Amino acid sequence: MRLSRYFLPVLKENPAEAQIVSHRLMLRAGMIKQSAAGIYSWLPLGLKVLKNIETIVHEEQAKAGHLAMLMPTIQSADLWRESGRYDDYGEEMLRIKDRHGRDMLFTPTAEELITDIVRGHVTSYKDMPLTMYQIQWKFRDERRPRFGVMRGREFYMKDGYNFDLTKEDAMHAYNRHLVSYLRTYERMGLQAIPMRADSGPIGGDDTHEFLVLAETGESEVFYDSAVTDLTFGDRDINYDDKAQCQSIMEEFTTKYARTDETHDEALFAEVPQVRRKVARGIEVGQIFYFGTKYSEAMGATVQDGDGKQVLVHMGSHGIGVSRLVGAIIEASHDDKGIIWPEGVTPFHCGIVNLKQGFAEADAACEDLYHQLTKAGLEPLYDDRNERAGGKFATMDLIGLPWRLTVGPRGLKNGVVELTCRKTGESEELTPQAAIAKVISQYN
Ligand code: ATP
Ligand code: MG
Repeated sequence: MRLSRYFLPVLKENPAEAQIVSHRLMLRAGMIKQSAAGIYSWLPLGLKVLKNIETIVHEEQAKAGHLAMLMPTIQSADLWRESGRYDDYGEEMLRIKDRHGRDMLFTPTAEELITDIVRGHVTSYKDMPLTMYQIQWKFRDERRPRFGVMRGREFYMKDGYNFDLTKEDAMHAYNRHLVSYLRTYERMGLQAIPMRADSGPIGGDDTHEFLVLAETGESEVFYDSAVTDLTFGDRDINYDDKAQCQSIMEEFTTKYARTDETHDEALFAEVPQVRRKVARGIEVGQIFYFGTKYSEAMGATVQDGDGKQVLVHMGSHGIGVSRLVGAIIEASHDDKGIIWPEGVTPFHCGIVNLKQGFAEADAACEDLYHQLTKAGLEPLYDDRNERAGGKFATMDLIGLPWRLTVGPRGLKNGVVELTCRKTGESEELTPQAAIAKVISQYN
């Protein structure tokens, strides 16, 4: 992409309404624009990051054997009356009437709708295990929308639902989700710690939230600092292997880590004092096992191996896809701007032309641009007729991991400059060597 043809409405000043750094930087980098309280348009740069996150979620769900599908945003109230949640959900639910006066709603989550889909078709134990998920817009009329996309009213969420014959199978689905989520967040450059949590209006007993530690997080968390040493890394996972999934689940959930809702002072006191941490965290996902709560209310049964009708065991699993954009920025920025982890960056490399209109510099930039593109990467070329200082400031603000700087002086010596956004380190390399180095970062 050439910056002269892009829509990147960067702001020089800090927007007064933004209280936390991710909100400030998303507005300043021209990623989003508010259209009403807690409701945002995603501008081209913001959408690219959102889509990259979405792609990682899809890829990891596919590895776990979960099926992507898509349900509507507008649902009929009838199903929610069946489960009893139409009245329970309260003011967070956006209720709508259609022209015939029928009660409709904008989906805050989709347990009812998916149970309705499944109860008609899944009739035998042979149809299970089954896990389906979607990545779809949700609406919750939050009392205090704030912090930009972190607590929006309209937000993008991955929501998945498992259907199993027994509690044991459903707990395997739970563990599978836990493992796939750990891998998902790590690919985004994040450490998200599973913490025992409270289930709220979804219901059920077994639930973990995934939290990214950050001072600006809305949740108070209590944990044994040893959990922060755990990394998922490059493990070979067989998602059908119940024992393997369970042992990873245990590895990541045995040490004390809880949100304030389930915090237990007596248990916490057993953690050695130096490792006892009280901090704040951003919730980026949650998994639930709730057993037969919905299948009972909505009559979802299957025939088991003995020909008996039994209630289906269920769980649901969410990832805050749009919130993650903010969470990643909270975890990775400096005073100049965003620092994108390579896994989610909107462009792989910036190209800054120090002397636009100078034939040799223009040609060298074009050549870098074509070579990177040919290698399957997406560069962002600042080809505007602007001062170098302004170009650097924009690149630092939007946070691309790598920047190539091209100017007449370097070209005379046959070199360009390659700069790492994270460390700030620069080196002079031949264009060929610089390109090879950038490409190697993404393989
Ligand atoms: P919270 O406690 O933050 O209100 P929740 O527990 O009600 O969230 P879930 O039903 O668990 O939310 O939804 C799954 C994920 O969707 C959450 O882990 C979070 O990352 C994201 N999410 C929930 N509400 C919002 C919101 N208002 N804006 C952005 N993302 C959200
Ligand atoms: Mg939650």
